[in-house]
Amino acid sequence: MIPGVSIREVNISKPFDVEAIRQDFPILHQKVNGYPLVYFDNAATSQKPNLVIDAISNYYKLYNSNIHRGLHYMSEKATEAYEAAREKSRAFLNASSTNEINFTKGTTEGINLVASSYGRKFLQPGDEVIISTMEHHSNIVPWQMVCDERGAKLRIIPIDDDGNLLLDEYKKLLNDRTKIVSVVYVSNALGTVNPVKDIITLAHEVGAVVMLDGAQATPHMAVDVQALDCDFLALSSHKIFGPTGMGILYGKERLLEQMNPYQGGGEMIKTVTFEKTTYNELPYKFEAGTPDISGGIAMGVAIDYINSIGYQNIAKHEHDLLVYGTEVLSQIEGLRIIGQAKEKASVISFLVDGIHPYDMGVLLDKQGIAIRTGHHCCQPLMDRFAIPGTCRASFAFYNTTAEIDKLVKGIEKVKTMLG
Ligand code: PMP
Repeated sequence: MIPGVSIREVNISKPFDVEAIRQDFPILHQKVNGYPLVYFDNAATSQKPNLVIDAISNYYKLYNSNIHRGLHYMSEKATEAYEAAREKSRAFLNASSTNEINFTKGTTEGINLVASSYGRKFLQPGDEVIISTMEHHSNIVPWQMVCDERGAKLRIIPIDDDGNLLLDEYKKLLNDRTKIVSVVYVSNALGTVNPVKDIITLAHEVGAVVMLDGAQATPHMAVDVQALDCDFLALSSHKIFGPTGMGILYGKERLLEQMNPYQGGGEMIKTVTFEKTTYNELPYKFEAGTPDISGGIAMGVAIDYINSIGYQNIAKHEHDLLVYGTEVLSQIEGLRIIGQAKEKASVISFLVDGIHPYDMGVLLDKQGIAIRTGHHCCQPLMDRFAIPGTCRASFAFYNTTAEIDKLVKGIEKVKTMLG
């Protein structure tokens, strides 16, 4: 039991009531530039329900204390709540053990940890690492760095004009030099849901390990690491309605055991002498220093919150938003949707003829509508489409079709303003 927090019963069969859910998110009920806020920047970060906000504040009000080594009441409470979040995270991803759940700062740190600890140890000159055209910079740069260091080669899976990965091309890239495949599960810029199960099976056939960037999958769909058989998966708490600065790296225990620690310091050691240090057991081997304690606890509460709504409900509502949004936005003259993959999450990237995405973003903001514009940390993907960037509206389960109507009106207004 986390002090000060009580979660509603998990009930995925209860009817989905978007207005009731919106009441859980205080930030949504404000005016921006004189208009009720329409928040369509969920792929950048999602909003937080009261329960998550309260979990952070209750930690500092009631039991702020360092974890793991303290014997006093508050330290025990904090340790209990933090480790309970690890168990919630394990269940959330269906990992087989909490030893496979490493707490990190977020997806970026999770990928860097694997590139650094696994890549440095196991990549040999001439080996190959495969990523895709639609990767976020955080799933490109760490691999470039380790490939440079180890003399390995980065190979890229191409995509088609709709934003689907070309699986046949992927098959051609695989060979006995392939040691790591690291791909995004759901693209933040296009919304494409990649066929990761097939990608994993094919990689395993040549003996490669697979890392999934789960940052944009976990806000929208249940992810089962055992069913997928992925070797590593990274996610960010702030995308799943939890606090920033927190995340999960899942790794198969067998692989994590073989890897060297990512950082050295307190917590990650068993014994230290000037001659020799022995490392702590999993998962602490990868968790040097005092962690973000309130962040971990509140991420656990965010997971409870998602479970209380149910991914089935989330997926259905977001699918409705995606279908509706795609239909009404497509009717705007001069608007082109970038990314029309067969499987998509609730992300719509678009361009409007003659209007720079930056101008669109600024002028929508003046109407209280928050979208994101730019390259979305996917510069190579923008190069693939020969565009500098897009406007991106990304929906969460608390968004409504009425808000999408406001976006459509907003875009029409910008078109009129800019002639
Ligand atoms: N990968 C994807 C697909 C993302 O959308 C993001 C965040 N925009 C990241 C990785 C990086 O996540 P973070 O900044 O939380 O580490």
